[in-house]
Amino acid sequence: MELPQSFEERMARWLGAEYPDFRQALEAESVHGLRANRLKVTPEALAARLPFSLEPVPWAPDGFVYGQGERPSRHPYYFAGLYYLQEPSAMLPATLLDVRPGERVLDLCAAPGGKATQLAAALGGRGLLVVNDVHPKRIKALVHNLEVHGVKNAVVTNDYPAHLARVFPAFFDKVLVDAPCSGEGMFRKDPALINEWSLELVTWCIQQQKGLLRHAATMLKPGGRLVYSTCTFNPEENEAIIEWFLRRHPEFELVEVPRQPGWESGRPDWVDGGRPELARCIRLWPHRVRGEGHFVAVLQKRGDAETAVDAARAQRTGPPPHLGKQALEVTPPDPWMAEAVARFEARHFTRPVLTGNERTLVRFGRRLFLMPPNLPDLSAVRLVRPGWLIGDVKKDRYRPSSALALALSVDDVQPERCVHLPSDADEVMAYLRGEPLARTLLPGWNLVTVDGYPLGWLRQLPGRQKNLYPDAWRIKKI
Ligand code: SAM
Repeated sequence: MELPQSFEERMARWLGAEYPDFRQALEAESVHGLRANRLKVTPEALAARLPFSLEPVPWAPDGFVYGQGERPSRHPYYFAGLYYLQEPSAMLPATLLDVRPGERVLDLCAAPGGKATQLAAALGGRGLLVVNDVHPKRIKALVHNLEVHGVKNAVVTNDYPAHLARVFPAFFDKVLVDAPCSGEGMFRKDPALINEWSLELVTWCIQQQKGLLRHAATMLKPGGRLVYSTCTFNPEENEAIIEWFLRRHPEFELVEVPRQPGWESGRPDWVDGGRPELARCIRLWPHRVRGEGHFVAVLQKRGDAETAVDAARAQRTGPPPHLGKQALEVTPPDPWMAEAVARFEARHFTRPVLTGNERTLVRFGRRLFLMPPNLPDLSAVRLVRPGWLIGDVKKDRYRPSSALALALSVDDVQPERCVHLPSDADEVMAYLRGEPLARTLLPGWNLVTVDGYPLGWLRQLPGRQKNLYPDAWRIKKI
C-alpha cells in the first residue's frame, strides 16, 4: 500500500519503535464486522441462524467479526434489518456512550447511521434519538438505515449544529460526536481515502471538530455524557482537540473507562502542553486489536454545570445561513387522515400499533409520522423526519410505508395478512427485486416476511398484485 510521504513521516515520528508493526498491519486485510439489531433479534438468535463464521467483538456485546470472503450484505436478513455491517472498532464509541432506554440522545454527525442504529438499539424503542448530518446526500442513507432497522423514536435533521444548539440547549442526556476526520484509520478498509488525505484536510477537519464539540457541549444536560470519536490516528484531530475543549469547557472532565486488552491509552505526550488526563482517551490501533483505527474520548459534564450560560451562548452565536429550502411545516393531520390510519390499524393489526402509544400523529407534507413526545418547537431546524414515517396520503387515501412494515413485529399483523417466506426461497429475492409473487393474497395490504421478519408490503388489487418494496431499495438481478 502506497501512502503519502508526509503521513508516513508523521506516524513514524509519533510511533517510534512501534512504527514497523503499525505499517505492517496496514498491509493486512481489513477486518469485517456486523452488529445484531436488538430491536429485532438477539445476537445469540442471529448467530444461530446466519450461515457465516461469526466471532464476538470483545467490546460490543452485539457485534461479530465475520470471515473474509463471506457476503452478509446479500443475505435476506440484511434486508430485514437484522444486522448492520460495521467494522469492529467503529462499534466502540456508541458502546461507551452507555445509552439507557428512555434517555434523550443526540447523534450529531450521524450519516450513514452505523452508530445511530446502535444507539437506537440501546434505547430499545424508548426515549428519543435525534440524528443529524449536514450532508444532504448522506442523509438519504441514514434515513434508509434507520427505517430498515425499524427505529420508531428517531427525529432526523439535516442542519448545522449551530442551529440545533439554539433549539436544544441542555436537552440531551447523551451526545455522540463521531466527527468528520481525515480517515487515516480507514486507509486499509477504503484505500480511496489515501488519495483524499492531505495536511490541508487535517487542518479543515480540526476546524469542523472544534465547532461540533462546542455546540455538542451546549446541547448536553448537566451530568450528561459526551463521546467524541474519530477514525484517524494523528493527535491534532484527537488528543489536541480534547485538550482544546477541556481548556474552554472546565465544566467537563474526561472519564476513565475500564480498559480491555489491546486498547491503548491516549497520548498526552503527543500534544504541546497536553494534560496527563488525556491518557484516559482510548486508541484502537490496527496492530493491537482486531479492527481498524479509532480514537474515543468519553467526557462528562458536571452535574451542577451552568446551563443558562450555555443557552445564552447558543443564542448569541449567529447561526450560519440556512442549508437551502426551508423545511415543510409539521401540522396536525386532517381528521379524515387520523380516521384512515385508525381504520387501517383495525383491519390489519392485532393490536393498536399506531394509535395506542404516546407518540403524536402529525402530517409533514404528504407524509404521516408518529412523533415522539416532549420535543421542543422544531420549526427552526431543517427537518427530514419528525418521527416514525407510517405512510403517506394521496388522493384521499392513506398508504402505509415500508418504514411502518419494517418496524412491525409479525405478531402485530393479522396472520391471514402475512406472506411468510423462508430465507432460502427464490421468492425472497424476487420480492426484493420488486417483482410480484405467484400467490393468492387477501385483497388489500399484505406483509411479506422472511422467516417471520418483515420485509415490506404487497398490495392485492382487483386482478393484479403490486409490490410496494421501494424503488430505491430494490436489488438488481445478478
Ligand atoms: N457516525 C456515522 C456512522 O457511524 O455511520 C459516521 C459519521 S462520519 C465519520 C462524519 C459525518 O459528519 C459525515 O457524514 C459528514 O457528512 C458529517 N459532517 C461533517 N461536517 C458536519 C457538520 N458541521 N455538522 C454535522 N455533520 C457534519
